Order: sequence, then structure tokens, then C-alpha cells
Amino acid sequence: MRTPGAARPIDAGAEATPPAARPVLGPAMEHSVLAIAGLDPSGGAGLAADLKTISSFRHYGAAVATSITAQNTVGVQAIYDLPMEFVAGQIESVVSDMEFRAVKIGMLGTARTVSIVASLIESLGLRQVVVDPVIRSTSGTPLLEKKGIPVLKERLLPCADVITPNMEEASILTGMGVADLPSMKEAARALHAMGPRYVVVTGGHLSGRAIDVLYDGDRMAIFDSSRIAGGNTHGIGCTFSTAIACLLAHGATVAEAVDGAKRYVSRAAAGGPKIGKGSGPLNHLIPPS
Ligand code: PLP
Repeated sequence: MRTPGAARPIDAGAEATPPAARPVLGPAMEHSVLAIAGLDPSGGAGLAADLKTISSFRHYGAAVATSITAQNTVGVQAIYDLPMEFVAGQIESVVSDMEFRAVKIGMLGTARTVSIVASLIESLGLRQVVVDPVIRSTSGTPLLEKKGIPVLKERLLPCADVITPNMEEASILTGMGVADLPSMKEAARALHAMGPRYVVVTGGHLSGRAIDVLYDGDRMAIFDSSRIAGGNTHGIGCTFSTAIACLLAHGATVAEAVDGAKRYVSRAAAGGPKIGKGSGPLNHLIPPS
């Protein structure tokens, strides 16, 4: 029987090295983690989910807003993208004052914001950068303007240590159909060629099991767990990428971080409260295991 979330290599020649068991939690406020993302006022996705996740992993969370949305568990009603100069000002402010062990980047809204965030990652020397290349909400609303997509590919992905596209995002970014495990692997290779050190293509939309693919330019591993029937899913992608950043901040390898993040979101989705009329939020208070 396979352990949920355990890695196994799938390419010929790859070594079977499931992540070693390690403590997930450190002392309270062990490190600081920065989230750069949009605000979902209903608290399930974006910055609010990021801060809850960072707290659950016992780090100190800082939050830079890129866009303010009007949304709830049912859908997104309106978006106000902050001027890119103001996003840059927030990043410069917190980075001049605090040291961040990892950074999560989510919704950026505009091409100009993608571009300035990429520049600041380099000029400020941000490290352990996890990029969730957010393009659309699950309800179908664009969260990045169309002309931001080429900038995301050309400027931001090469600055990322880890990227976490879902199947739809992987398909948009590569121009390939991504609908099954072989095409997820192919997309992971194509995305890796765009410059990030690690690519995680999440297969939450695959029917049957919840399978994620991790590619480091050499080895391909899959993380396989059963799907949680009826679980809450609003903000699950935001939470997954932030959990990876938290585990990297704690000293985990990328494979360990993906494994631990997957376990956390599975349990948080299964234990989500009945809040709102649509796809409810995760239970971020579930302790990471
Ligand atoms: N809203 C914001 C501000 C986000 O950053 C994200 C992240 O993907 C979403 C919404 C999408 O959440 P969902 O896919 O659950 O609609």
C-alpha cells in the first residue's frame, strides 16, 4: 500500500528516495516567510490563506498585497490591482526591515507587477522563492491580465526556486494540452526549460487520485494520494505553495516540502469548515504532520 503523499520516482534510472521523516514544526516564530499575493476578503485564498498557513507552520508571516479582490466562496465579483510602484514600495519596506527565509508569490494581477516583482527578487536577493503562477480563479475569473502571461514566463519563472502550476496553468504556460500524467510530465519538462529550479505540476483536476509531479531537471517524482471526496478546495493552490515555502524555511528539501505540503492540504481540505455558500475554505488550523 502506498503512503499518501510519498514520493516515488517514475522515470527509468531515477533513484527511489522517498523523503526522510523529519519534524515539520520548529519553535514558534522560527523564521519569517513573506507572501506576495492578492487579498481575498472572504479569507479562503490569497494573502489571508497564506498568513494562516504560515502561522500553522509556526513561522512569522508578512504579507504584501498586489491586488484587492471582492470575492467569496462562490466567485470573484471585482478586482482592484494596486499600482506596481505601491507593490514595490511594500516589498522594499518589509525587506529593508526583516530577513525572510522563504518567499511565496501568488496572484500578481498585471504585467507591470510581474515585472517589478521579478526585478526585486533579483535586486533584493530574495531566496527560496516559491511561485504559484496564478492565472485564473477556480470559478474562471482572470487573476492575471493576458499580457502578463509572457512576462510571467520570461521574467518571473527564471527567478523562481519552485513553481507550482496546476494543470490548467501548466497548459496555458506551455501551450500544451495537460490532461493526464504523461502530459503533466511533459509540461514539467517544458516549464523547467523556462528557468525555475524545480517544477511541481499539481494534478488536483485529475479524476481518481490527486497526483502531483515534481521535476528538478534530472529526476521526475510523483506524489500520489487519494482524492478527498467533498473536501473544501477554495484557496487550496495558494495554501499548497505557501506550505512548501514554510517547509523550505524550516530546512526541508524540495521533495520533503512537497510531500509535507501535500499532506497538510489534504488534511486541511478534508477538515474544512462549512463556511459560505460555495466551495468552502480549508481548515488551516490543522497541525502539519
Ligand atoms: N483569489 C486570490 C487573491 C488568489 O491569490 C487566488 C489564488 O490562486 C485565488 C483567488 C484562487 O483561488 P481559487 O482557485 O480557490 O478560486
